[in-house]
Amino acid sequence: MSKKQVKVVAMVDQWEKFLKHLPPDLKKFYQKLDITQSPSKKGQIEKDLEEKGLMTHIPNWKLDNGIYLGNYRLQFNYSRTAGHAIGTFLNGLREGKILGRKCHTCGRILVPPRMFCEWCFRETDQWVEVADTGIVGTYSVSYITADPKVRLEKPIISGVVWLDGTKLETPSSKTVRHWGGFMHYFDEVTPEKIKIGMKVKAVWEPPNKRRGSILDIKYFKPV
Ligand SMILES: [Zn+2]
Repeated sequence: MSKKQVKVVAMVDQWEKFLKHLPPDLKKFYQKLDITQSPSKKGQIEKDLEEKGLMTHIPNWKLDNGIYLGNYRLQFNYSRTAGHAIGTFLNGLREGKILGRKCHTCGRILVPPRMFCEWCFRETDQWVEVADTGIVGTYSVSYITADPKVRLEKPIISGVVWLDGTKLETPSSKTVRHWGGFMHYFDEVTPEKIKIGMKVKAVWEPPNKRRGSILDIKYFKPV
């Protein structure tokens, strides 16, 4: 659920054009109110919007040179699908499993999974469960969060975990071409101790606290 402050500016002579951009429900609602017809309906509009929970406050409605101006708060309830690949991945996390998709052509295991291999331009072939252990691929130490004025006593360490069993090398050069990994937190380690290549393991939430989120893994710790 999200609350968003919006400003509606509608030219009376462009009313139909404006309505086209609204979600169907809201469009119908406005059409029913017929607010282009009479500014004297102001009180009724406020009442109707409030009754339907669409508005909590209208500080001032006014008609100015053919423009209706109003500030109000709309409440949008929405949900979005994670899609097949990420949805399956998140359900796996709830069960304590990290799932990837394997492409049989290039041999890569994509974690987080994708249904399409952009190297081979084809669909990936199968689901595979990968280990919850790996190495630190890269990391960053942050002493600030969203508020830069506050310096954290204990810094946040985040970075990319490269999971065991997802390494792919070319036979000739032994060059590492790809390791499946994803961003997460590191903990039970200090900024001085953490190193690229350090072996780490996932620390999971207990099963009854998992909810199909990347945070079902609390963080990765050194092993
Ligand atoms: Zn591929």
